[in-house]
Amino acid sequence: MIKDEVKIEIAKLKEKGIESTLAVVIVGDDPASRSYVNSKKKTCSEVGINSIEYALDSTTTQEDLENLIERLNQDPKINGILVQLPLPNGLDEARVCKKILPQKDVDGFHPMNVGMLTTGIDFEYSIKPCTPFGVIELLKRENIEIRGKHAVVIGRSNIVGKPLALLLLRENATVTICHSHTKNLKEICKTADILVAAVGKPKFVTADMVKEGAVVIDVGINRDETSKKIVGDVDFEVVKEVASYITPVPGGVGPMTVAMLMKNTLFATLLQNGLL
Ligand code: NAD
Repeated sequence: MIKDEVKIEIAKLKEKGIESTLAVVIVGDDPASRSYVNSKKKTCSEVGINSIEYALDSTTTQEDLENLIERLNQDPKINGILVQLPLPNGLDEARVCKKILPQKDVDGFHPMNVGMLTTGIDFEYSIKPCTPFGVIELLKRENIEIRGKHAVVIGRSNIVGKPLALLLLRENATVTICHSHTKNLKEICKTADILVAAVGKPKFVTADMVKEGAVVIDVGINRDETSKKIVGDVDFEVVKEVASYITPVPGGVGPMTVAMLMKNTLFATLLQNGLL
């Protein structure tokens, strides 16, 4: 498991006197953000990464938030900075992402890291966004061949769809990105060997959109209005009958994302200590 691998590496660093520390910034009191932050902090403690929470009031100004990030950028004891998104209305997320030093940007959202991912320049020194990076890792660990396969990604956000399409391309898949303006979505999805749903709509992917034997990766995390349960974007019960492999929600991509955050924090620590 990735978390076990990270734990071993963190222990080795400790023997050399190097600690790894993640700063987790949360603004406001959104319950989903609170639960994500708690789960990230818990996983940090499981693998031996120190986590320091900075909980800011929802009335925090852009200037105060950027000042905090600047302090964390300058602090040599902080290896990774994570600002939990979404931020409350009025705060500019893009400016916040740009403010974090690229080598401490464990979410991989800084334009420098995105540029390295896009061009392939110094790719091995870039920090990759946790969810897309986790999807690739999951496919590799399940021995699912990506090269030459038709991968269809539904969703084009900066957090999931776009970087995932780039990572799949780098793995030599033939990639199609679908989004809210795509025509013939069903027909396109039906040609996918690997179908990834990152839409944010429960049961969006139905069995008639999936080719027999396709690999289906469900990135969605949605709250079902009636059952109040967490569900993905894929109608799991029917699609599992058609797919050769399918990830569940909860489970699957979600825990993988947190594990990749740990991997990224370890990576940032190695990078900052000249150990890569
Ligand atoms: P987003 O709202 O930023 O993007 C959704 C994308 O879906 C958009 O690009 C849009 O074009 C596309 N879309 C919307 N309606 C569509 C339609 N009818 N047909 C085709 N495409 C359509 O969301 P996001 O941040 O990319 O997140 C997507 C989902 O993944 C959400 O459920 C989110 O909670 C989840 N998520 C999960 C993780 C994880 O760790 N597993 C991480 C991030 C996001």
